[in-house]
Amino acid sequence: MSSGRRACLIALGLCCLIVIGCESSSSSATATPAGQSKWKVACTTGMVADVVREVGGPHVEILQLMGEGVDPHLYKASPGDVRILETADLICYSGLHLEGKLADTLSRLSRRKLTCALAEHLPKDRLLQSDAEGSFPDPHVWFDVSLWSETIEPVRATLEKLDPAHAAEFAERATKYREELSKLHAECIEKLAAIPKARRVLVTAHDAFRYFGRAYDIEVKAIQGISTEGEAGVKQINELVTFISEHEIKSVFTESSISERNMQSLIEGCGQRGHQVARGGELFSDAMGKAGTPEGTYIGMVRHNVEKIAAGLK
Ligand SMILES: [Zn+2]
Repeated sequence: MSSGRRACLIALGLCCLIVIGCESSSSSATATPAGQSKWKVACTTGMVADVVREVGGPHVEILQLMGEGVDPHLYKASPGDVRILETADLICYSGLHLEGKLADTLSRLSRRKLTCALAEHLPKDRLLQSDAEGSFPDPHVWFDVSLWSETIEPVRATLEKLDPAHAAEFAERATKYREELSKLHAECIEKLAAIPKARRVLVTAHDAFRYFGRAYDIEVKAIQGISTEGEAGVKQINELVTFISEHEIKSVFTESSISERNMQSLIEGCGQRGHQVARGGELFSDAMGKAGTPEGTYIGMVRHNVEKIAAGLK
């Protein structure tokens, strides 16, 4: 090998070392990328965004893909969303196939970007299965406040990885938020315990409330299944009409992210059987309320649901 060629190779080797050095220093950086004062965190649902906001505080800028009234089961990424996901410093999503149509995009990005699928860190023995065959876990874990509070730790650990310099602050914020959710869980138990046992049946549009039912001792019935992808059949609606009429259930509940059509058929069906069932109001199921309102936060959303349910079933 000529000395010129050797020098060239040595120079190339040095370049590689410098590039590798740069990459490793940016992945364990303690400061945000140039031109940014905060870490850009792309979040899918409002519930996920809320945990990241609470733990990350002033160090994160949340880029939330799904807003008020958006159904995460059916949500497809727009070109704008893909750009957000591609340029974010961190991607947080709920997981367990909640974001069914984004699964491919999220798994592709997770190979080269820092990601956190919150619900996938929960203890497996606390997850409910979607059906008798146990094909996949029910993703609606945020309805059991004590279970959802366990997503705080994986978020804290991921933020620490992203920004080690603020680890102590993230830990402090995480502890504070865990305490707030622990109080909220106790509040839910107390308010729902006031509903007489025989009336503790929650009828909703789609089967999102099974964790809620387990945590707060309420039987849950839904027109549609765990995902909103399938159409509810006439048979399912008729069976539910019979159940509601026989058990003289007073109220049924609509959901902000689900169409009202099936609920209307259900109420009319009960009417034809001589049982008048009221609308217990709209619950927030897979999406939170409007940003800037109390229902636009996880705590406010849970409180809204619990108050509507307690009032409607008493
Ligand atoms: Zn759902």
